[in-house]
Amino acid sequence: MKRIIIAIDGPAASGKSTTAKLLARKLRYLYLDTGAMYRACALAAKRQNIDIDDSEALKGLMDSIQIKIQYSELGNITLLDSEDVSLAIREPEISLLASAISAKAVVRTKMVELQREMGKAGGVILDGRDIGTVVFPEAELKIFLVAPVQIRAQRRFLELQDKGLNPIFEEVLSELKERDLADSSRALAPLIPARDAIEIDTGQLSIEGQVAKLYQYYQKRMAGL
Ligand code: C5P
Repeated sequence: MKRIIIAIDGPAASGKSTTAKLLARKLRYLYLDTGAMYRACALAAKRQNIDIDDSEALKGLMDSIQIKIQYSELGNITLLDSEDVSLAIREPEISLLASAISAKAVVRTKMVELQREMGKAGGVILDGRDIGTVVFPEAELKIFLVAPVQIRAQRRFLELQDKGLNPIFEEVLSELKERDLADSSRALAPLIPARDAIEIDTGQLSIEGQVAKLYQYYQKRMAGL
């Protein structure tokens, strides 16, 4: 059976990564969390004290770091210069910095190139903001997930607690709102649904419900290929 590219885009905490991960397992596809890659760039910039508005310094950083997503049965691992930074990149401070750094052309060019390389063979689900519009506009199935911001904040709050972090709900909510605005209004690869994306509101759906819905769309798409 043909192994396609599935693009899942949407705002933060709309259910992309959970759904993508489970659907990938069901289909035996690879899952690529592209947000983790921008987060790793942000972490590198923070550690090296790079002013992200200094384009020379930012270019130097992007030329010198190596970001890899390593596939594993237990979940993917994000490597920054061979160090496992999977947990460090989930800090709220890194979320905001990732949003800011991802608006820079030099960063996007490098990340998009890596993402295309990792996904081009098919049999892959990528989640992000611009997968269906920029990274793989030819993806056979494009999904755009949305959900009310209060529900998304609640989900992210619980996720952070599960990771052993100590979140404050109001801070999580305002960080999501700030990122939504920045990601949707930036000039480069803004968060918008592709023309042919299927929009799904996950606000009232359980995780199983989301996966089942996406699986139905996958089957429908495969029947039409
Ligand atoms: O998906 P996640 O919340 O981990 O992404 C962190 C940030 O990385 C987002 O707020 C967004 O600014 C950026 N991003 C992006 N393009 C992607 C994935 C993430 O600009 N494909």
